Amino acid sequence: MTSILSYIQQAHKVAIFTHQSPDGDAMGSSLAMYHYIISLGKEAQVIVPNAFPDFLAWMPGADSVLLYDTHQAQADAYLDAADLVICTDFNAPNRIGALGDKMLSLTCPKVMIDHHLHPSDFADFIVSVPEASSTCELVCELLSTLNSQLSIPIAQCLYTGLMTDTGNFSYNSNRPQIYPMIASLIEAGVDKDAIYNAVFNQYSVDRMKLVGYCLYQKMRVFPEHHAALIYLNRKELYRFNFQKGDAEGIVNMPLQSKDIHYSVFMREDKATPDEMEKNGGIKTKIKLSFRSQGDRPVNVFASEVFNGGGHTNAAGGEYYGTLAEAVQLFLDNYAKYFKA
Ligand code: 5GP
Ligand code: MN
Repeated sequence: MTSILSYIQQAHKVAIFTHQSPDGDAMGSSLAMYHYIISLGKEAQVIVPNAFPDFLAWMPGADSVLLYDTHQAQADAYLDAADLVICTDFNAPNRIGALGDKMLSLTCPKVMIDHHLHPSDFADFIVSVPEASSTCELVCELLSTLNSQLSIPIAQCLYTGLMTDTGNFSYNSNRPQIYPMIASLIEAGVDKDAIYNAVFNQYSVDRMKLVGYCLYQKMRVFPEHHAALIYLNRKELYRFNFQKGDAEGIVNMPLQSKDIHYSVFMREDKATPDEMEKNGGIKTKIKLSFRSQGDRPVNVFASEVFNGGGHTNAAGGEYYGTLAEAVQLFLDNYAKYFKA
């Protein structure tokens, strides 16, 4: 793992990438690396494929992040002069959309630090630890080997990813080593209660009503397989003034029932021009989220049927076509992947 640090030592202008629709771990791991690298007096730039949700905008350094979908020319100019690419929290070029093609065209060294299964072999040096709670756990371990005091911005970024990728330490959080790590982040100046509030208590009233609508009107339950499915079309999203990030967490809610062990959430979205080009001009993308409890993998279903992947209990995928087709695909396949 410390080999990553020698790549950094030799670099002067570093680009840091993380996955599309960045979550707390994506933003936390990339921004922690950013703060570390600029603290060495080197140039660094976080570039993300598309916008991150507003509830992460408070993160230190978030205002310096470049969005590739809206600032491609500026990002490309930076990348053409970069001498190192660091990839955090993703395992394959297709997880960063159009930025993936640009990355593959760059000749500078690329390193990856991630916790998703089955990394693709696109980087010169790969740290892949699927049993880690989060990429932030891995970055924390990496930076801790330096024996230097973690700065407050770095500690805040790392705590955010540890907190969000474990649902505030309610899943994926049995690795004992994360708790001394959290203690060290608090000692470094993290106010964990303030971060919880900044991330989890920031919803709009519209979003609260959307949740009510999903649970009351839209949750289909498949009792034999202890499964729930919620899906929303564009009209429904519009009705609740849907904003990026509003879907966050809805997929977890059915699991609060003692009768539900699998939960799937789908929503209709527009394909980007790049996605349209790659999918025969289809304009509609269905974004799927999968969650489960215990020994009930959902990543296999996500990867085999919905071109996605992820972890045992939290996975995602996508489908290019209508929402009705995606729902039918779910109905045709769930019994094969979900235990009765
Ligand atoms: P979420 O449901 O929060 O969007 O995603 C949960 C997890 O599933 C993410 O941490 C990520 O590992 C994985 N994931 C989500 N969407 C995709 C996708 O389209 N492809 C792949 N390979 N993994 C995904
Ligand atoms: Mn992650």
